[in-house]
Amino acid sequence: MINSVLDSQLVYAISALCVPPTTIMEIDKRRRAFLWAGEANISSAKCLVAWEKCYTTKDLGGLGIKDFATQNICLLLKLIHKLHCSQNSAWEAWVRANTNFATLQGHLQGNRWETLRSILPLYKALTTVEIKDGAATSFWNDVWYMDEALADKLPALYSHCTKKDASVRDVILSQLNDAFVPRLTSQASSQLQQLQEIVAQTTLETGNNIRKSQFDCGNGRLDSTSIYKLLKAKQNPVDPMSDFIWGKCSPPRVQFFMWLASKGRLQCRANLFKKRIVTTPACEVCQGTEETTDHILLHCPFARGFWNALGLLIDDGLTVHGMQSLPRIQNIPAKQFSSFLALCCWQLWKRRNALIFRNENLPLRQVLHAYALDAAAWRPRSKKKEKEINTAWCSYLQSMLNQNH
Ligand SMILES: [Zn+2]
Repeated sequence: MINSVLDSQLVYAISALCVPPTTIMEIDKRRRAFLWAGEANISSAKCLVAWEKCYTTKDLGGLGIKDFATQNICLLLKLIHKLHCSQNSAWEAWVRANTNFATLQGHLQGNRWETLRSILPLYKALTTVEIKDGAATSFWNDVWYMDEALADKLPALYSHCTKKDASVRDVILSQLNDAFVPRLTSQASSQLQQLQEIVAQTTLETGNNIRKSQFDCGNGRLDSTSIYKLLKAKQNPVDPMSDFIWGKCSPPRVQFFMWLASKGRLQCRANLFKKRIVTTPACEVCQGTEETTDHILLHCPFARGFWNALGLLIDDGLTVHGMQSLPRIQNIPAKQFSSFLALCCWQLWKRRNALIFRNENLPLRQVLHAYALDAAAWRPRSKKKEKEINTAWCSYLQSMLNQNH
């Protein structure tokens, strides 16, 4: 009754506006009173379960009442997506004329625009971009080159950048060296070389860039129900998989990837086959076997070889859910071990995508090397005390690389 009648009256308004916290408190007061007493007001003694528990999703043990603040964010994400995907709408043209579209910074002031800007990083973590004219895409913070934002891929260089808001177009058409402080550290210099290669490979075309998302459900619409579940799972640590999914040193994109993997929602061929997008569910790597999430991450021959190279034996019946109970590798600290495993899964997923979408059949050694680079890039995410965990990962990966000559 609360979800279908009381809330639905407000959905229209919160799809477009940012609701202030005090308003949400007032709405919650009335929803709570209605739930426990069917009246307009209630004393807290009559409420049987804490309100925060009531608005947790049912799969996390809650009552499934909508958390308005989170729902508001999801609906505003839809609005941002519409802005990026609508063709020739007057509103889109107006926003393009008045802001730097990649950052939404510009002439548009007010609470509503501040809110949209504040959830833009979340939107960028949920989407990727196929570059055309490069104009509305953030060079550093959007995912337009392979599977990661360049700020995450090249963190040392990013910290030396003086034009963090630049669009892809700005950078491709300008002198790259002007965008950094004059003296670079050796790590930043080597990352600058990588960046020069990336820039040299990138060509601009006419037309708007194309935004894609796992959560896109066609016609520029975003599946806000799934995003809502994802955000609630992130806020709620009761899920037994939560450590594994929301590892503190994993970037948001990897966290979302692990969440999708744990729900069996990766766009693997078995899922695409169910949606009739592909004609066979068979794995393209090993042919024959159905390509499920578990197959890609654990049982495909390449994945097995990868885990073996890291010193882990994978049983035939192991699933992503059972990975938390894998025996810890000696020399790798117990703390954040699940993040180490999440990073393994992420490498396997990236390798699979490189093969399917770019026909790159990366050998084991190269995947291990990419893993070592990613692990090093995650170092700034660790707390000071936990940097040694990252050091242990990196030296372990280096020793595995030396063995796999
Ligand atoms: Zn396979």
